[in-house]
Parts: sequence; C-alpha cells; structure tokens
Amino acid sequence: MSILVVGSVAYDTVETPFGKAERVLGGSASFFSVAASFFTPVNLVGVVGRDFGEAQLAAFKDRAIDLEGLERMAGDTFHWQGKYSYDLNSRETICTELNVFEFFKPKIPARYRRSSHVFLGNIDPLLQREVLEQVEQPQVVACDTMNFWISGKLEELKKTLARVDILLINDAEARQLSGEWNVVKAARAIRKLGPRTLIIKKGEHGVLMFSEQGSFAAPAYPLEEVFDPTGAGDTFAGGFLGYLASTGDHGESALRRAVIMGSTLASFCVEAFSLDRLLRLTRAEIDERYRLFRRLTHFEEL
Ligand code: AMP
Repeated sequence: MSILVVGSVAYDTVETPFGKAERVLGGSASFFSVAASFFTPVNLVGVVGRDFGEAQLAAFKDRAIDLEGLERMAGDTFHWQGKYSYDLNSRETICTELNVFEFFKPKIPARYRRSSHVFLGNIDPLLQREVLEQVEQPQVVACDTMNFWISGKLEELKKTLARVDILLINDAEARQLSGEWNVVKAARAIRKLGPRTLIIKKGEHGVLMFSEQGSFAAPAYPLEEVFDPTGAGDTFAGGFLGYLASTGDHGESALRRAVIMGSTLASFCVEAFSLDRLLRLTRAEIDERYRLFRRLTHFEEL
C-alpha cells in the first residue's frame, strides 16, 4: 500500500493568543504526509520555491515520504498567514501569497501511478482531477476542499466529487456545498454527488462520519493545552487515510478505527506550532493516546 498526496507545501505565519510563529513549515500536504507516514509510505506531489530550506526538507526525508514528486521552481514558496481569536475556534486569513503555487501543474512520477490510495488536498478541483487521471485504479480516493472552490468552481468540484470515495470537509463547507443547514440533510445531499463516505470536521467538537452503514461520531480528544489549530484538519486526514491504507480494508469497522486514529493524530498537531509536535511524535505515544480515546468514548461494561 502507498498513498499519493497532492497539496500545498508552505511557509506559514501564525498568530494565536499564545504567541506568533513566522515563516514556519506548513501546508496541507506537509501535515498530511507526516501524519500518514506513521502508518503507510507516502508519495508527495507539490511544489516549493528556491527559498525552501534544507531544514524543512529534512522533516520529510527522515520518514517514509517520497519526495520525487516535490518540484522546486524558481520563485518563492507558497506563504499563508493567519490569526486566531481568543477561543481558537475562528481564524482570519491575513494573507495568501500563492507564489510558485500559482503556476503549479502537478506532474506525477511514473512510480507514483500505482499508489493504492489517493488524497486530493485542498487545491483547484480541476488540478485534483488531473492528478486523479494520472493514477491507475486507486482503491480509495479521498478529497478535501474549501469555501473558495465551493463558491468559485462548483461545477468543476462536482465533476471531481463524482470520482471521490471519501470527502473530508468542515461543517460550514458541508452546509455551503449542499445548501442545507441541517448536517444530516447536508450529508445526504453530498453523498448523492459521489462520495460514499463523508466526514464532517467540527474542530474542537470532533467529527461526524456518514457512510453506507449510517453515522458515527467521535469527539475531539480533551486537551488541557491547545496551542495552534493550524493543520489539524490535514493531520486528521493523514492519520485517517494512513491508518486505513495500512489495514488493507475499507469496511465500516476499519473506517471507524481510522476516524479515531485521525482524531488522535490531530490532537497532537494542535499542541505546538507548525509540525513541531508531529515531528517529535513516537508510535508509542500514538498508541497510548488511541487507547485513551477508546476509554473516552466507551460507556458500557466498564
Ligand atoms: P487547516 O488548518 O487544516 O485548514 O490547514 C492549514 C494549512 O493550509 C496551512 O498550513 C496553510 O499553509 C494551508 N493553506 C491555507 N490556505 C490555503 C490555500 N488557499 N491553498 C492551499 N493551502 C492552503
């Protein structure tokens, strides 16, 4: 098994009530890849500029993350700047500098075409489809998107969704995509667009999964220290799909365990700025928190 991921590799500048981090490693594909690589080898497709440092590359090189598909172009790396309010639930985008990302045309190395799983990170839905067309018969295709594409490229997005098995979005995006305020109705409408499984992320309120077998809910792990929520969604997706691929199964039971593994990885992500916590994380710490998660949600025969 292996996972092909396409998405942003970025420099982020993030301000939270607890401090500020300038030009640190970020991007959807970065968080996803590091989280997924704990379970399944990752084939990364993305672009960085000439300013992207060796120290940042080292974060990927030490893991099961293949970098042949990470292109280096003349120009600067994608830069995103965000600021969180005091409760960390809402954030404001201060600036998005696309830089090399603006001219990005994903090229898929031949060896990546046989990837068993695909994660289409939050990029133009047309590019998502171009990537998908270059992969030979993946077993599972998962996808993320955002309000920008739902309002700006809805028809393209619908064409992409018709070929997606699992869609991961937040509750506001689910409402916007379906035109339904109620999330259960929204889920029914979105599943008709293609994805058999829909995962709705609700930040500190956890996630809801809608699949052929009905619905499943998981809380977010209750943490005493939440430092920076940036990347939690992508880290969830990485833990989820990485674990799912490692099971070689995509039945309901494997999907549910993958949701808890995604939530486990995301809970570590928010404990520090950037990928700092994920890069120091061990498999033993993951397994221990997964065990605590089981206890958190168990309510019969204690
Ligand atoms: P999340 O907190 O899971 O929504 O992901 C945050 C990450 O997404 C940050 O590291 C940013 O670099 C990246 N990001 C923000 N805006 C965009 C965008 N328009 N396209 C691609 N990546 C983005």
